[in-house]
Amino acid sequence: PDPTLRGEPIEGEPEDRALRPQRLEEFVGQAEARANLRVFIDSARMRGQAMDHTLFHGPPGLGKTTLAQIMARELGVNFRMTSGPVLARAGDLAAILTNLESRDVLFIDEIHRMNPAVEEILYPAMEDFELDLVIGEGPAARTVRIELQPFTLVGATTRLGLLTTPLRDRFGIPTRLQFYTVDELDLIVARGARLMGVAAEPAGTREIARRARGTPRIAGRLLRRVVDFALVEGDGRLTRDLADMALTRLGVDDLGLDGADRRYLTLMAQHYGGGPVGVETLSAALSESRDAIEEVIEPYLLQQGLIQRTPRGRMLGQLGWRHLGLDAPGPQDG
Ligand code: ADP
Repeated sequence: PDPTLRGEPIEGEPEDRALRPQRLEEFVGQAEARANLRVFIDSARMRGQAMDHTLFHGPPGLGKTTLAQIMARELGVNFRMTSGPVLARAGDLAAILTNLESRDVLFIDEIHRMNPAVEEILYPAMEDFELDLVIGEGPAARTVRIELQPFTLVGATTRLGLLTTPLRDRFGIPTRLQFYTVDELDLIVARGARLMGVAAEPAGTREIARRARGTPRIAGRLLRRVVDFALVEGDGRLTRDLADMALTRLGVDDLGLDGADRRYLTLMAQHYGGGPVGVETLSAALSESRDAIEEVIEPYLLQQGLIQRTPRGRMLGQLGWRHLGLDAPGPQDG
């Protein structure tokens, strides 16, 4: 599978800093989350206190990291960033927490993948801004309590269901991010083209927006690739025809689905009569990890109504059959 067409971050990718919105007002979409954050940020500033701990959840590439950075900037505090898998030992987190200044934002990406021993020390830190550290081993071991500066933890997860209940309950502001509409993505792509100095026709940016799987990160990637084609094989202008040609060459179909999406749908149709199929079966047949299927592939297919989730497994929806150019079997066959 081609990772460039997916929502996950890629190590070392030049996600143009210039393209990242810096202020809440520049952030396109997520109107409800944005309006609420505006209130909570302003209120925290007026009270001169740390903002409540905030949890962003939703598929990769929808702006969780960006919103966390915007929060820090709007609150006028430092932004510190780490991730669940990186925090191997309790001491790793303790070192970060003891270095925070008053009201700082600490962003923990993939917070559902935190080691339980690390998570344990996070509870009192979140609740009382206190750290209980065990020093030494065996009978000589003792606990020392360290006072922390008040801070705001911003957690991000693609899998809300994998968060432990005690951790989930400690976030005062849980916020779900939604896929973006084509209009919203169009604004993001047009702004990106402008910042890259590319002459873009409205129908050209719209074609990219339409095929970006509801995801700003994918929209940004597709824009960069389409601009490559425009420069090398076109006259430098981003037109609809050029965008269509480039996206088709990249394997992005008319709905914005990539090769992995189509393999998923085709497998369901041709080998399982449209389902229901269990996720483990799909994972084995597609050689994709279960996590990748549940976090990256399925959310958009579900949102588009191409598949459905039932207690007995995944099913191909009417739209899924139609997209493959196949007829759904009649109810008597299934
Ligand atoms: P996540 O943390 O949810 O995986 P990011 O915050 O890293 O996503 O965003 C991925 C990319 O998409 C970044 O390059 C970011 O600048 C861009 N992006 C995300 N949301 C928006 C938005 N609302 N407007 C413009 N660009 C956005």
